[in-house]
Amino acid sequence: MKIIEKYGKSFDNKAILRTPEWIENQSENARIKAKKFIKEEKEALNACPMCESANVVEFTRIYEFIYKECQNCENLFLANPLKDLQKLYTNDGSESSFECYLNDEIFHKRLEFIARPKVAFIDEVARKYQQTKLWLDIGSGGGENLYAAKDLCYEVRGFESDYKALKFSNEKLKGDYVKEGFLDIQNCNKELLESIRESNVITFFNVLEHLDNPRQTLEFFTQNMAKDALLVIEVPRHPSLSSYANAQASNRVYRHLIPPFHLNIFSEKSLEIAYTSCSRGGGLKLVGKWVYGQGFMDIIHAFEGFDKNQSLYEKISLVSNQVQKILDENGLGDFLLLVLQKI
Ligand SMILES: [Zn+2]
Repeated sequence: MKIIEKYGKSFDNKAILRTPEWIENQSENARIKAKKFIKEEKEALNACPMCESANVVEFTRIYEFIYKECQNCENLFLANPLKDLQKLYTNDGSESSFECYLNDEIFHKRLEFIARPKVAFIDEVARKYQQTKLWLDIGSGGGENLYAAKDLCYEVRGFESDYKALKFSNEKLKGDYVKEGFLDIQNCNKELLESIRESNVITFFNVLEHLDNPRQTLEFFTQNMAKDALLVIEVPRHPSLSSYANAQASNRVYRHLIPPFHLNIFSEKSLEIAYTSCSRGGGLKLVGKWVYGQGFMDIIHAFEGFDKNQSLYEKISLVSNQVQKILDENGLGDFLLLVLQKI
């Protein structure tokens, strides 16, 4: 059967309340966080973590963190990640990393503009394979993906380690759908493992880039998923215009290349190497792909004082979706959503 492919996704910064102030704030936060961790003990990677090639060149430096590009598979990776990645994600529980998403207005906007289109695309692919109806979202955040899937009559289940986000999403979903937990492939939570085995659709969005073992993680899913079930990942993508924008304005990054958090910015080839080499337990095959991005606006946001002339900035913003679609169709999108089927 043919792979379903899609390019471009309309995006409205304004609609999801990403104002120029918000963007400036995010870039300031990214700087503070990178600097906070720069003195920690680090690894030194000399080979591509995805294909193991040693043919790698420096791509850019962002606050002393170095991203290298693999010349074999085009994967971009953080060459000096923290030795102890746990340090990046520990907090005392009083602060939620989802804080900015956990309010009604943002929830509904993210639901309409981000979650529903994604869930509809996945549903379109799933229907081709007559999947039955259990949808599992690992790292379910504020719960908007589950909400959209539930509206399409899926039975839904989520796992989230952030307590505030979990509580918020269960309130929205009106039930105990989201459990506390995260994926640890060395020592997988029993309930989560059961869910992985039973589910027909598993969404794992924006997590793989944070893990130091993306290949093993894909392998883990392959070993534990049911035959014909779908695994859907969403990751930052390279080569892309966003990578270029981040490299050219490395002191103003606020998304995409955010060290020390994003360890890999995956190329399609690097992921293909990973999921086709998942041989134990059957393997995965590509059945759906959606490429989209915001690189055009990243170029605009790379300039200091980008909104000084507000009416001109708004005019530029208005054409961004059209321009971005051309970029996405030509291999320069910065987000990649892959639907992989267990064979
Ligand atoms: Zn590589």
